[in-house]
Amino acid sequence: MGVDASGIRKVFDLAAKMKDPINLSIGLPDFDVPEPAKQAAIEAIQSGHNRYTQTQGIAPLRERLRADMSREIGRDVGEVLITSGVSGGLFLAILATIDPGDEAIFLDPYFVMYKHLLTMAGGKPIAVDSYPDLRFHPERVEKAITSRTKLLILNSPANPTGIVMSEAEVKSAVELARRHDLLIVSDEIYEPFLYDETPVGEGGGRLPSPARFYEKTLILRGFSKSHAMTGWRLGYAAGPEAIVSQMTKLQQYTFVCPPAPLQYAALKALDVSMSDAVAAYRRKRDLVFDRLSKEFDVVLPEGAFYIFPKSPDGSTASDFVARAIENNVLIIPGNVFSERDTHFRISYATTDEKLARGCEILCSLV
Ligand code: PMP
Repeated sequence: MGVDASGIRKVFDLAAKMKDPINLSIGLPDFDVPEPAKQAAIEAIQSGHNRYTQTQGIAPLRERLRADMSREIGRDVGEVLITSGVSGGLFLAILATIDPGDEAIFLDPYFVMYKHLLTMAGGKPIAVDSYPDLRFHPERVEKAITSRTKLLILNSPANPTGIVMSEAEVKSAVELARRHDLLIVSDEIYEPFLYDETPVGEGGGRLPSPARFYEKTLILRGFSKSHAMTGWRLGYAAGPEAIVSQMTKLQQYTFVCPPAPLQYAALKALDVSMSDAVAAYRRKRDLVFDRLSKEFDVVLPEGAFYIFPKSPDGSTASDFVARAIENNVLIIPGNVFSERDTHFRISYATTDEKLARGCEILCSLV
């Protein structure tokens, strides 16, 4: 069906054979779900919240998220749908908007799921090269727009690069979307992990989301990364009523509803401050960048928990990653996320000791 196995899975299979590897490949936080959220999940199960919920998710969680996001972006964010992870939100958003032959644009390097979900929906994934600075170049994106383009998928902070779009970049994307009447799907799953101090907007949020400037924006966020709940499968979509109601209809025939007791626990999780975790990751970002930038060509990541250095001259990313794995360091070759095989992804969501040792080994291989 034109969808190949995830390259990340292949690396994980290799990892399973390594003895105590320095694993810098994992795209999830190294802390656990906050205690109050765990307790709330247990209480929700014990008090009988074990049945289907409404398709769109429980009202108190939807209302809370709508209020929080509306305050942040400075206008009503629109309808909110609780989804089965951001993956669920992406799947429904694409199914709701893409007819066979329609096109969707996103930057290369990209989060792998975009390409495959679009293919599954009969759409055409259009990846626009962002090398070497890994940033949004409006003139390149504009060249890729055709009469079949329906979506512009943005991902900031980005996986695998850690790049955060500046307000000016977001405005240039919005301007293109407005001119060509595109829906922006804004994958903001890494939204809390921002390492720049400047707040934008009155609502206190720090991410220049395109939703601040453009109503035809569908925000996708979730709890997987922010609260280390990757196994709980909880995300949410917010945006124009027409799109969200279509997604809700499709949810009815696919996921039915997100996990019931965990929706109650997520409501509790919203009251837990994650700022210590974000501060710890900022420090790790600095540690990794300081060390790797001495030997590698690398762009400073401003968010998420990834860094995407270029492999040493004369070696493809796959070759370099194979050498790293021989030396017990597990990283992911860029061709998993890209049409190019020139860079590699490091996740720095691990202990400082492992990071320091991993960087030392990688630098010794240059
Ligand atoms: N979008 C991006 C950019 C991601 O990195 C991920 C997870 N790796 C997802 C969406 C999906 O996350 P979830 O676990 O919420 O389905």
